[in-house]
Amino acid sequence: MYRILQKETLTPVTKLYVIEAPEVARKARAGQFIILRVHEEGERIPLTIADFDREAGTITIVVQEVGVSTRLLGTMNEGDCLASFTGPLGTPTEIEEYGTVVVVGGGLGIAPGANLNPENQIAIFEATHGTAPSIAGKNCANPCSLILSGALMLQHMGWHQAADLVEAGVQRALAAKTVTLDFQRQMPTATLLSTTAFAQAVIEHLQNLSA
Ligand SMILES: Cc1cc2nc3c(=O)[nH]c(=O)nc-3n(C[C@H](O)[C@H](O)[C@H](O)COP(=O)(O)OP(=O)(O)OC[C@H]3O[C@@H](n4cnc5c(N)ncnc54)[C@H](O)[C@@H]3O)c2cc1C
Repeated sequence: MYRILQKETLTPVTKLYVIEAPEVARKARAGQFIILRVHEEGERIPLTIADFDREAGTITIVVQEVGVSTRLLGTMNEGDCLASFTGPLGTPTEIEEYGTVVVVGGGLGIAPGANLNPENQIAIFEATHGTAPSIAGKNCANPCSLILSGALMLQHMGWHQAADLVEAGVQRALAAKTVTLDFQRQMPTATLLSTTAFAQAVIEHLQNLSA
């Protein structure tokens, strides 16, 4: 079990956790992430490794509470255990010999996700956000993470031409400033589209590209 050794409230919605996870700490490198589940039936959420201590066998994560699973994590306290804590995942950041290196990064929440087994090639591709129950059925969710996960799957299958087309279709739809509500809130001059209309826009760009 993965015990919470330390919990610190950084802001009302941002918390730092030090988790006992010696196997992960042994191999962790800067730029990698873990996927955790708060309880056995919980959803899997990816979180960046903010720090690690190989000797103490701990991983530090910093989590902003934005939806169901991150809020649930926020209710956990020191001494509580997480159901799973898988990692380290992802490609470590390439760091040259510059002395002390500080890296700060961010994203828009449309990263695709893949879980790859290099031994038998079995793979699962999925969006990297949560289930977003607050917007379920409203036709306003941003499908980019899911669509780009599909492109990753096509790449994995070796169908690179199709993967490139899907990625280019998404890029062109975003470049044309046709976006779903989450992006439109941050892009006042953009055109607001529903989930299905955005998907249709991607398809049209894709068809134009392949014509
Ligand atoms: C590699 C990686 C590393 C990450 N590292 C960190 C980290 O270090 N710290 C951190 O705080 N977070 C990190 N994240 C983000 C974190 O994984 C998500 O915040 C978390 O999965 C959200 O889950 P949730 O169930 O709490 O919320 P969700 O159910 O995902 O909901 C969160 C909010 O987003 C909205 N939303 C979700 N999906 C959509 C969609 N498709 N379209 C429109 N709106 C949507 C919901 O309505 C809600 O307002 C990382 C993500 C990745 C991929």
